[in-house]
Amino acid sequence: MPWKGIRDPYKIWLSEIILQQTRVEQGLDYYNRFIKRFPTVHDLAQVNDNEVFKMWEGLGYYTRCRNLIKTAKEISLERGGIFPQSVEGLLSLKGVGAYTAAAIGSFAFGLPLAVVDGNVIRVLSRVFGITDPIDQANGKKMLELLAGELIDKLDPASYNQAIMDFGATVCKPKNPICETCPLRKQCYALKHNAQTNFPIKAKKKKPIERFFYYLLLEHQGSQLVRKRIENGIWKDLFEFVLRETDEPAEEKELSKLSFWGIKHRLTKEDIIELSSPLIHQLTHQRIHCRILHVQLHDKINHPSHVWKSRSQLKKLAFPRLITRYLNQD
Ligand code: SF4
Repeated sequence: MPWKGIRDPYKIWLSEIILQQTRVEQGLDYYNRFIKRFPTVHDLAQVNDNEVFKMWEGLGYYTRCRNLIKTAKEISLERGGIFPQSVEGLLSLKGVGAYTAAAIGSFAFGLPLAVVDGNVIRVLSRVFGITDPIDQANGKKMLELLAGELIDKLDPASYNQAIMDFGATVCKPKNPICETCPLRKQCYALKHNAQTNFPIKAKKKKPIERFFYYLLLEHQGSQLVRKRIENGIWKDLFEFVLRETDEPAEEKELSKLSFWGIKHRLTKEDIIELSSPLIHQLTHQRIHCRILHVQLHDKINHPSHVWKSRSQLKKLAFPRLITRYLNQD
């Protein structure tokens, strides 16, 4: 990983924010692009927010992107480009929780803070046989305390890197290499032949089902869009005219603009397509979506949406669900 072994707090912070809730393989590409475009925190702080959102497009969890922008501005404009060097200072930054503070603090400044990522959780819960679910308050607290006790205070960076690498290469989720593991004598999970039972997680809640119907109105390459301002998913991203319903809508309703509260008659020729059902899975929600794509002869006005030309649309960030639809063959 390009960020491995580095001590630059900006690069560590950037990589950690990108990797929150994102697989390394996916995040790596984004990290490289961000570092190339914004080599320093000042470069990131100076650009228009829309450009950052556009670069973030596809990564999801856009609160991270909002926090990234806010913290970059704070570090650049209020702190002269210098990251805080204490755990309290790091935790005061927007979007920086215990994990990210520990990563920046230990790798950049040598603070004795334990990084507790998925690999570390797996190792500790197996070796010590932690039976409290690790995704609930008690289990989390126990792991944090344990990790804090185990950290090598003289060289926290090497310790953190070593235990994360150990989890990634030896104490793997599947097929851990127990035969030659240096911790085999004290490992609770091995002793009870229960390696894959750890870490123990609470039962998952059922995701909320939501039904999104988008109306994509197009006129000579321009499209009618708006920026989502409500708190919740996709805040600050752009979208077409949306109607959300509690239940799946009937297909015949979706060929009329009145479904979206628009008084305008369509002919069959105006309709480019009604997409087949699209499903977008988020952590706690499942979005069921269909998109009616319409080509209008004349622009219509809409109280909350604006027309954007082809070149303007290219600069706007949309939810992945929409970009996937737009980029399909
Ligand atoms: S003995 Fe197996 S399960 Fe236990 S720490 Fe080593 S690799 Fe992990």
